[in-house]
This record gives sequence, structure tokens and C-alpha cells, in this order.
Amino acid sequence: MGEVIALGIKQQGTSVGVIAQKEFPSGVLVDIPNTRFAEAVTETARLIADPDVLVIFEAAFEKDNLRARADILVRVDDRWEVITLPDKEADHLLGEVKSSTKVKGYHIDDVSFQAYVLESAGVKIGAAVVIHLNPEYTLDGPLPLFKTERVERRPEGWVREQANAQLHILNQSDSPDVVVGRQCTDPHPCEFSLHCHANLQVDDLAYTPISPKWDTVNRLRKSGITSICDIDLHDNFTDLQRKNILSAQDALQVNGIVIRKPELQEELSQIPLPLAFMDFETVGFAIPRWSGMKPWQPMQMQFSVHQLSLDGGIEHFEFLAEADRTDPRLEFVKHLLAAVKSAAKIVVWSPYEKTQLNKLAEVFPEYAEQLHAVAAKLWDLCGVFKRNIYHPGFKGSFSIKQVSPVLVADGYDGLEISCGEDVLPAWGRLSDPDVPTDEKRALRQSLLDYCKQDTQVMVDLLTIVCSSLDT
Ligand code: SF4
Repeated sequence: MGEVIALGIKQQGTSVGVIAQKEFPSGVLVDIPNTRFAEAVTETARLIADPDVLVIFEAAFEKDNLRARADILVRVDDRWEVITLPDKEADHLLGEVKSSTKVKGYHIDDVSFQAYVLESAGVKIGAAVVIHLNPEYTLDGPLPLFKTERVERRPEGWVREQANAQLHILNQSDSPDVVVGRQCTDPHPCEFSLHCHANLQVDDLAYTPISPKWDTVNRLRKSGITSICDIDLHDNFTDLQRKNILSAQDALQVNGIVIRKPELQEELSQIPLPLAFMDFETVGFAIPRWSGMKPWQPMQMQFSVHQLSLDGGIEHFEFLAEADRTDPRLEFVKHLLAAVKSAAKIVVWSPYEKTQLNKLAEVFPEYAEQLHAVAAKLWDLCGVFKRNIYHPGFKGSFSIKQVSPVLVADGYDGLEISCGEDVLPAWGRLSDPDVPTDEKRALRQSLLDYCKQDTQVMVDLLTIVCSSLDT
């Protein structure tokens, strides 16, 4: 991420947590950072002892080496309700951290841990509550922005066990020897991912190209298998999983690309010309900006289309909305329909564009027929790769960002914006009236370059695939 973009994240926005606090106007904030935790605990104790204080934000507690900060405490008679705001840091302008629209297991873990520490510190606890964004809320609609749900706490013994396990790890001199797995991405991508994946062998089971993956990988690991090459294809797999594993085994054996040519030829022969290549970028906001939109609803603000004509020529079309706080979706639709009007088939790299076209058809019924017609022309090149092509360098993933560097020279190298995660912060900077014009001009160009490269890479990948059939 460029420095400018990182700066944007730091400087802008109001967090969902702060907006939620406004639901409790009498609340008192313990405005002391974790670096001065003892002071925060003392201040919390003072507020709890004051009968006039009914709501406390960021209350701090410490007991038996365990520390907790409760997002919101509400005094109800002689007890305190513990309220957690999942992902409260989510920035409602930038969507910096995705905020939740439903209660998830780890939210219950969090509130249970907070309640456990508070109780250990002598606080009488009432209900345990999770507040999250209401997925049914619409801007200008009748429903409230937040949903409040009482949850059943985890058993005390379970919390103690988890806490002890974590304290034990913290007291070790070396980091524990943990194999990579589902926990690296679920519920959140782990920040040590690069570090932990750096020394994995290319045949490691973690790189098995199947979906879903981790239950199978864990089962295979338990049976003593560590290499993709040792997976028994007679095991209980779907046809596609078996095909993917076989491709991976063949690719590892030749240490290069494996292409199932007859099947690929068959698929490609059914594709009519002229072809277009299409990619969308969207941004979502925790708190919607336009009437009728829901929390985190994607807003289509950019596309790139490469149009391949029958004589082999290629033309590029693009659209990037003005980040001027007007709803860009109608302009997006009009420009898109014009850009793909002569395509017989439209290449995409995931089902995402289809989903977005269907959503746009709901928002603009006058364009629904044309948008559905575009959706009917989509052809998912990623699926073609999954069924017919594998290279050990894919490392078990068919994401375009993983596939393209293996096969396409200069894929995303040198771009200021080079991954989808950078789009939203860049859009946030473009929306900021205080950002200088020169910087905005550069950011717009970076966004255009990035989206254009997504479709250019698809053109290159399909060209490589087609040429492989001639050899
Ligand atoms: S990437 Fe994170 S979750 Fe995965 S093994 Fe490493 S430290 Fe654990």
C-alpha cells in the first residue's frame, strides 16, 4: 500500500464504535489508552462507584494477569450489562475494517471473556450483549442502524481454559510450532501469514487446490500425509476435487504447467466472438451514503473492459466515477452497457461481476433486461483454469493475483495500486475535500491503471492458454 493511502486510513473517518456510543448519550468514556492500563482500571473503578454514572465506554479491568476492556457497560439495577461492539474500529467512511452485520462465534467468545474478567474483578454482571450493524437498515428507511442481541455466554470453565492456554503461550520463550490452516484466514486474515507461509514446500497440503479445503487437509494430516503427491485419489473426493488434485500432482511431478488440452479445447471451441474482458471495482461503506442502500452494500464505481474485435484488434473502455458524494451507479450502468454492447461473450474472473449486475438490475429496473442480458454472456475464465490448468506456483489458489504472476510477465508489477484492498482507501482519499488536486489526479490514474490491468491480465492469460493448444 502506498504511503499516501496508508496516511488516508490514519487521518480520516469516524469509527462505527463512536457512532454506536451516541446511542448512549449519558455514557462516560474512560479516555485512557492501554499503554496506561493501571490508570484506566483506577478510573473505571471510580466511575463504577459513582451511582450517577449509568453507562461507561471502554471500561478497563485486570485480574489474575487477564486484562479486558468492555466496549460499553450499562448499569441495570445492581448489575452491569456487558456490551461488545464487534470490529468497532471499522471506519464508516473508508470501511477500513469490515464491521459485522450478524453475531458470529468469536463475538460471543469476546463478550464471554470480558464478562469473565469483570466478574473475577468483582463486578456483578447482567446480560451479555452484542451490538452490530443491522443488515436490514437502509438509509432513509424506518429501521435502526444497530441491532442489539443478547447472547448466551460461554461456560466459565471454557473461558478459563482458553485464557490459560493463551497465557501459557505468552510465557513461552519461542513461538509455538503451529501448522498453517483455516485459522490463518478465518475469522480474519492473520498478519503473520507471509512469515508462516514463507518456508512451506510447494507440495505442502496447505496448497491443495480444492474447495472446501481445510477439513480435508486436516483429515489427511491426521492420517500422516504431508505432501499433495501422497494423496490417494481413491479417497472420498468430488470429481472436481479429484481432478484438481491429479492436476496438482502432475504439475508437481513436471515442476511446471499442466494443461488438460482436449477438455480445454472443447471449452474454448464453444466460445463465440467477439469477446470482451470485464472487471468491476466496488466500494462498501459500513454506514450507507445513498438512499435505499444497506450497510456494506457494494457500490459499483469503476469498470474496465477490453473489447477484442473479430479482426484481432483490441479496444479499451473504462469508467471511474467522480468521488463527489453523488451516487455513481446509474452512470456506471450507462457506460457499461455501451462498452459491452457488441460482445458475444464477456470474460470475467469470478462470479462477482454477475452478482453485481443482478444487484444493479434490482436498483434500476428500467435497465434490468439489458443488465440480465450482459450477465447471460459472462464466461468465467477462472473456472476454465480450475477445470483444466494447474501450476505449482498457483500454490493451491486460482485467484488472479496468484495465477497471473506465474504466467504473465509484468502482471501487476510497478502499479501504485496493485490489489483490491487498496481500492477503498484510495476512494476514501478521493472523497476527501481536503486532499490536494494533484494527489487526487494521481490516485485516479492509479485506480484506472489497476482496473485496466485486471482485464489486460485476463486477455494475456487467455492468449497464453490458446497458444498452448497450438504446441
Ligand atoms: S499465519 Fe497466523 S494463524 Fe496462521 S499459523 Fe501463522 S501465526 Fe498462526
